[in-house]
Amino acid sequence: MNEALVREIELLREFGYTDFEVRGGAPPPPAGSAAEGGGAPQSDLLADLQKIAVVCQNCRLAKSRTQVVYGVGSPNADLMFIGEAPGRDEDLQGEPFVGRAGQLLTDIIKAMKLTRDDVYIANVIKCRPPDNRNPEQDEIDACRPYIRRQIEIIQPKVIVTLGRIALQSLTEKGYAISAVRGQWLEYNGIRVMPTYHPAYLLRTPAAKRDVWADMKKVMAELGIAA
Ligand code: URA
Repeated sequence: MNEALVREIELLREFGYTDFEVRGGAPPPPAGSAAEGGGAPQSDLLADLQKIAVVCQNCRLAKSRTQVVYGVGSPNADLMFIGEAPGRDEDLQGEPFVGRAGQLLTDIIKAMKLTRDDVYIANVIKCRPPDNRNPEQDEIDACRPYIRRQIEIIQPKVIVTLGRIALQSLTEKGYAISAVRGQWLEYNGIRVMPTYHPAYLLRTPAAKRDVWADMKKVMAELGIAA
């Protein structure tokens, strides 16, 4: 294990996370935390984790990023959207899904009668891969503890994964998006709806119909009238 990772685990322990396993699963909730059922509110826990994330040096993407793109939205969201990795616009602005694909995601959220403030939006990779290349497996592995912990703090009712990388990275299974899109999966007791990435929809507008069918299932699950 590299030194930076060891330092980060020490930091996580200082924040109250015990028995932290980098590749073995989400760390247990800190004693007395909201995730545990009382104590610190989710916003504080998310802010604590962000302090660690913004100085992360656990993979090579730390060298090329402008800034860490941690996540935005409601710390108590029932619905969480998880994408792949920041692109150029996100790297510059520090917020996920603010470029063209982001605009489309915002439109999808509005069509669901929600706003970006009602949901939580994050990526499985917090730093931009250079030239928007796909993230490498070791980068995905190095970043996974952050998204796992964000989910554990927020405890959404539903997670929507956007595209293949988010789906495979979160579930650690080699699902083909075409095989499981639109079907409910489960992650640590949370319902997961895999759907296409908005960037794919920009290239393939005919697939928007599939995504809307998936989002209607999510709305039904959350009790939002279509
Ligand atoms: N694509 C993603 O997967 N995430 C972003 O934040 C932007 C584009």
